Amino acid sequence: MYHSVASAVDDPYLITVDPARFRRQLRWLSARGLRGVSVGALMRAHRNGTAAGLVGLSFDDGYRDFVEEAMPALAEHGFTATVYVVADRLGGYNDWDSQGPRKPLMTAHQVREAAATGVEIGSHGLTHRRLAGLGARDLAAQVTDSRHVLEDLTGQAVDGFCYPYGSLDDAAVDAVEHAGYAYACAVSPGAHSGLHALPRCYVGDRDGPLHLTAKLVRDRWLR
Ligand SMILES: [Zn+2]
Repeated sequence: MYHSVASAVDDPYLITVDPARFRRQLRWLSARGLRGVSVGALMRAHRNGTAAGLVGLSFDDGYRDFVEEAMPALAEHGFTATVYVVADRLGGYNDWDSQGPRKPLMTAHQVREAAATGVEIGSHGLTHRRLAGLGARDLAAQVTDSRHVLEDLTGQAVDGFCYPYGSLDDAAVDAVEHAGYAYACAVSPGAHSGLHALPRCYVGDRDGPLHLTAKLVRDRWLR
């Protein structure tokens, strides 16, 4: 689970990985014979029994630096990824992070172009609201409407959803499943864990080779 790839000066939420660090992390995967793919591709491979050696790479929020920094580095390794964009904030900035630095978000044009090169576009809601506790109408707007907006924009099926803040409850998981998403990403979904609440591993700027190895061992053990 990544968010932003940029030279960070001010990063209170620890969501930014320096481009040089990011390149080293991709090299670390490559050196282990692992290949970065979109989460949708990883889930399909799981169903087909061909997921060995694949790592799902996800980027939340759809920062413009995904296009400027992450995509070129991914391409150097022949990797792809999923970017979860906030459907009603394209071309804007991360107005949900009141304390953090303003970061520009991908424009509609950039989302379309990324989709055309094989990047999976997933939904991160309509406006980055916490889904836990929302009523049916608000859930439908965040989950179903965002899917329609992104499918109209890209001309492709949007199969993946990603819960803003990893926030979910029973109603949220039901809404995501009902909206027709094939899968959804959470962070640490606990008892909700499943196809529509997948756990993910946080990767940050402090994650050098030792940390990455420790996380790999931990996740294998948890599985
Ligand atoms: Zn987010």
